[in-house]
Amino acid sequence: MLLRHTPTEVAERNALTINPAKTCQPVGAMYAALGIHACFPHSHGSQGCCAYHRSALTRHYKEPVMAGTSSFTEGSSVFGGQSNLVSAINNIFTIYNPEVIAVHTTCLSETIGDDIPQIASKAVEEGKVPDGKHIIYANTPSYVGSHVDGFANMVAGMVKGLAEPSEMRTKTINILPGWVEPSDMREIKRLTNAMGISFIMYPDTSDVMDAPQTGTHVFYPKGGTPVKAIQASGSSAFTIGLGPLCSTKAADLLKTKCKVEYSITDIPIGIQATDRFLMALSRASGKPVPESLTDERGRVMDIITDMHQYLYGKRVALYGDPDQLIPLTEFLTDMDMVPMHIVSGTPGKRFEKRVNEILHAKGIEANVRNGANADMFLLHQWIKNDPVDLLIGNTYGKYIARDENIPFVRHGFPILDRIGHSYFPTTGYTGAMRLLEQILGVFMDKQDRESPETGFELVM
Ligand code: SF4
Repeated sequence: MLLRHTPTEVAERNALTINPAKTCQPVGAMYAALGIHACFPHSHGSQGCCAYHRSALTRHYKEPVMAGTSSFTEGSSVFGGQSNLVSAINNIFTIYNPEVIAVHTTCLSETIGDDIPQIASKAVEEGKVPDGKHIIYANTPSYVGSHVDGFANMVAGMVKGLAEPSEMRTKTINILPGWVEPSDMREIKRLTNAMGISFIMYPDTSDVMDAPQTGTHVFYPKGGTPVKAIQASGSSAFTIGLGPLCSTKAADLLKTKCKVEYSITDIPIGIQATDRFLMALSRASGKPVPESLTDERGRVMDIITDMHQYLYGKRVALYGDPDQLIPLTEFLTDMDMVPMHIVSGTPGKRFEKRVNEILHAKGIEANVRNGANADMFLLHQWIKNDPVDLLIGNTYGKYIARDENIPFVRHGFPILDRIGHSYFPTTGYTGAMRLLEQILGVFMDKQDRESPETGFELVM
């Protein structure tokens, strides 16, 4: 009972977060930056920040994460980090030769008020940026928002720094995938390829954060969106952004800067959200959804129908990032499961409204909260007062799952104690199958473990 001190009485808190359901902005900015080919992320702050951002990503993806730091000392903390950043830009291009450096700020450099565009211009003026190379940047103060906002800000930084306006329009569709696993990025590309659509997707961390072991160290893995493709996205016919929080800012900026119209839809988790994504692709390209994808949909429906008795009425608690939780909640209700408690540490006004719309359409009243006070402690209190049959979320939920003996499916960021998330998608219809397999697996494992000998069944 590691969390035995969690009381059942819920007290309203204004100035205290206990076990937050989020992490800091630069972690997301760094992850997004790794989705550009030959990009070197740079953390403008102290060494400790950068070490944390890198280790947070490495512990989840089990891959090395190369990144630089402005390595603030007492001097830079007082007088600003301009000279550190200009030196860092010079060193990085000289030693590591990336195509692009993606600078994100930290709490410290934001508090000082360092002007990153001005410092980047100074580096260019001083000849520290070789011809054909680029610096992009994002402001990621971690005392507001979360890792999701950091991701969104860096994707917007890609548009701001790289996308090129053009009078010419191609038939290409831009896809902004939102914060999903490398496996999901691969799956989103597979679905789009299956529709025969020419597209540019960024960021793309497949073949970067799930790079194959070849026996030869490559400093920049082969994956990641090429800079040229991001530049060309300004000429595309249309942009589809996945996940309102992760992708709206960049899509909107691309429209303002390059006049590329856009639509935002949910990350394709579950059946309805995948339907919406494919229909958005179909509308934007004029191409129909092929039979092969309709067949994949049919296979998910078949599993749900076959296993409905294990899913119907099961009460679920879930936590994580808004763009993931919204379609996940919808998928659970589509399977006649009952989401009871939902928290996200990421602030934002639209989350609770959107989730409640999904729940109310099925007649479900649930505890839904996001922002600073929506933490793992509150989630545990809600579960103690109103128990559930299933917990879905990142690794930090394992303490609650153990204490309350709840079947637990790991989903979201970070997953520190299992593998699979980088390699097997949970998006698209095949991803829905994986989610179903995971959910049914933990239910049946519990039943096998706890059933009396007289009720221990071979066939379930
Ligand atoms: S100081 Fe701010 S940016 Fe640095 S690790 Fe902590 S929360 Fe993140």
